[in-house]
Amino acid sequence: MRRPGRWMIMALVVAQSGCAADHSVETEAIGRLPGAPVPTLPQTDPDGTESSGTEPPTEPTEPTAPPSTTVPNVSTTDPPDVDSELGLGDEMFPELGAPAVDVVSYDVRLDVDADAGAFEGVVGVVADVELGVRFLALDAQQLDIASVDVGADAAEFELIGDELVIGLPEERDERVTASIAYAAAPNDVYSEAGLPAGWFQTSSGSYVLNEPDGARRWMPANDHPSDKATWRFEITVPGDETVSANGELTQRGSAGTPWIWEMDEPMSTYLVQLVIGDYELVDSEPIPSIDGGTIPMLNLAPTDLVDDLPPMLEETARQVAFFEERFGPYPLAGYGLAFVDSTPGLAMETQGRSMFDAGDFRREQLGYLQRLLLAHELAHQWFGNAVSPATWSDIWLNESFATYSQWLWLDEVGVDTLDRLAGDALSQRQNGVHSTGDPVVENLFGFESYDGGAVIVHALRLTIGEDAFFDLLRRWIFDNVGTSQATAEFIELAEEVAGVDLQTFFDEWLYATDLPDDYPA
Ligand SMILES: [Zn+2]
Repeated sequence: MRRPGRWMIMALVVAQSGCAADHSVETEAIGRLPGAPVPTLPQTDPDGTESSGTEPPTEPTEPTAPPSTTVPNVSTTDPPDVDSELGLGDEMFPELGAPAVDVVSYDVRLDVDADAGAFEGVVGVVADVELGVRFLALDAQQLDIASVDVGADAAEFELIGDELVIGLPEERDERVTASIAYAAAPNDVYSEAGLPAGWFQTSSGSYVLNEPDGARRWMPANDHPSDKATWRFEITVPGDETVSANGELTQRGSAGTPWIWEMDEPMSTYLVQLVIGDYELVDSEPIPSIDGGTIPMLNLAPTDLVDDLPPMLEETARQVAFFEERFGPYPLAGYGLAFVDSTPGLAMETQGRSMFDAGDFRREQLGYLQRLLLAHELAHQWFGNAVSPATWSDIWLNESFATYSQWLWLDEVGVDTLDRLAGDALSQRQNGVHSTGDPVVENLFGFESYDGGAVIVHALRLTIGEDAFFDLLRRWIFDNVGTSQATAEFIELAEEVAGVDLQTFFDEWLYATDLPDDYPA
């Protein structure tokens, strides 16, 4: 993601405090769909505490509920520990993801009528759930769950806080197929990290922004970057709106006929693209790749921007060649640029087709900001998408490297210099409030993760030398494509490639609040 400038951050903070107030009201207002089955697991309040019903709190309400020992605390008087039992324990977002769950694929089938102000659908989840575990916990925030099937049978489910807990049969295979029918409404919500994350509706359509935890606000998901899956999207709209999602378009929709997109490469939830509205899909010249093949290009733009695409696509082709030489072959099956009416200054590296604010490119087609944004989101296809962070604390593996890549490009085309960018960022980085390697949630998308972290990438290059540095970047992608990795793995590979102990370097740069005054000589 490329965050908006400082003025925008301030506007978002103001908007966020407004949202928080609305949020609690909405939580109470949303009820079960009419006619939806009543969950048979013991009832809890949304905050996870036991409700004061007349049922004895120590017994499931129906004999068919899973035994209490296999469902996390829902049948005891203690509220379930959402963080440790239903979440992965991510340092910043402990409730996200779930232990014992590895999603293999998602099938997202939605019926979206913008005029109705809501959407409904079914998400199919194929997941491996450790044997012996009697529930599948998915992240689901403010979703109105109508019914859940596991295999061919209706399943019991319960919403505990922001978790959808689905009962699993005692006798089962490790691989589980669940199907969740639900409804939801667009939500102008901001994550704790201060950026919009959820489903957004504008006058020209709707789009999702998912980093870091927005996917769970519009679909049930194992919403953590460590769990990659393949994806299929089947989206039905009432009129002639265009639908863009990740991957390959396998069926072009029309009124009442769904648009179908398929992403066969492993993808984390935060990288999902879903844009619906008055846009055109534009094929463009495939970009030659260093590996001898070509990269198919499929773009999305509002009609008034379509004629302006060629210079941006040409810039992208030059950037691909430049980055491939340094990072290795483009790591995904395809690419494209998606221009969406969203928020000025905001851009997102949605996998295989980066998303930009159309307004940013209406003002000026290829100025400093536009070249920066195009380079930043393209570089994420290597750093973040092909290789994703294992936890949100590893955010620098995304943002510091994408920012460094953008510096390299601005230097390459002569609109700035690497020396100036690196020098300025290092002086600004002094007296930081926290280290880049150990971020805090409010500052996940702050200076220390972006330019303040690119400083560390530059220092690493100067420390291990030109050849080892670019060997390291190519190895990092080549060895890990399709997976999620932690900083410890990066450090280990850096030491292996450089052939030196780098503990002191990372202590002084990555894990320090105050950085050295000067770059290594
Ligand atoms: Zn970014």
